Amino acid sequence: MNLSFERRIDHKPANNAYTRKAQTEPSLRMHATLPLLQQTTFPPLRRRALQTLQVNLGYICNQSCQHCHVNASPQRTETMSAKVIDTVIEVLRTREIKTLDLTGGAPELNVHFRRLVVAARALGVKVIDRCNLTILFEPGQEALADFLAEQGVTIVASLPCYSLKNVDEQRGKGTFEKSIKALQQLNALGYGKGGALELSLVYNPLGPSLPPAQSKLEAEYKRLLGEQFGIVFDHLYTLANMPIQRFGSMLISKGTFAGYMNLLRDNHKDENLEAVMCRDTVSVDYNGALYDCDFNQMLGLPSAVPASLAGKKARLHVQDLLATSLEGQPIRIADHCYGCTAGQGSSCGGALA
Ligand code: SF4
Ligand code: SF4
Repeated sequence: MNLSFERRIDHKPANNAYTRKAQTEPSLRMHATLPLLQQTTFPPLRRRALQTLQVNLGYICNQSCQHCHVNASPQRTETMSAKVIDTVIEVLRTREIKTLDLTGGAPELNVHFRRLVVAARALGVKVIDRCNLTILFEPGQEALADFLAEQGVTIVASLPCYSLKNVDEQRGKGTFEKSIKALQQLNALGYGKGGALELSLVYNPLGPSLPPAQSKLEAEYKRLLGEQFGIVFDHLYTLANMPIQRFGSMLISKGTFAGYMNLLRDNHKDENLEAVMCRDTVSVDYNGALYDCDFNQMLGLPSAVPASLAGKKARLHVQDLLATSLEGQPIRIADHCYGCTAGQGSSCGGALA
């Protein structure tokens, strides 16, 4: 554990509206969402060949956003160990994985983050860092932007809106200003200019509505961020909020959970089933356990164990990928899956349509 890590876990939680209310209003304490999602009419899905490892390096974050489906915050302590990181690197090598998608919490706060990135890039693997932008200004992270650029890491950054008011409301006071500064710093390093250093932004709605059309909103973001702050970026990914964890709990508190589920179900499109990310991605939690996606990880729904391992183990671990293919395996579905197939569809790479 290095000094920056120790300093970070002492960090105060984001002072956003949700965090402040949750401390004083019992109605905003976490509600379980899985019991409301398990009875489902969602169509069955099966896995294709594995292309992407999405690895959650831990739930610690310097922020505690209202919509966070991971419940990440500075108070969390879960983080991936060196041993599990070594296994991830071994899987990248032996299974010739194309993409390593690093998430958290703030993945950069795992003390092994840079070693993993260097190892993956040396193997020719595309590395995506799901970066909250404000992390660039945390103590001990001063050289992070330079490191990411040197390694050619793709950055997918959260900026849920181009308005100061909305971003600060959702992600904490001061977040917008820091995010703008971080994007300007990344642009100065060559990010977001259509070249090798890819910089994409992520948008998710503030409340229980579907995201607007991705291409239209991307054009609007590009125009406004360009005009007001001189910022450029490659793509905007629009994501639907998942009715789980902190966001799902907030819907239950406000009595809008059922209405939001109806909105997702009513807008389901079968054609999105082809492109949902669980078909060729597997999600690894900080202990190395496997899930069909990050959302299932947060709901505690592990990947199904293939027949070849039945009776030998109750759950799959990233180590099992060294010898076992998941191709053709059934995917664990529940009603939250409609969050991926509603409207234009939603995935970690944005709209599916
Ligand atoms: S949404 Fe991202 S930045 Fe916000 S608390 Fe969750 S992991 Fe951290
Ligand atoms: S939530 Fe989405 S990515 Fe996860 S299993 Fe359901 S359809 Fe697949």
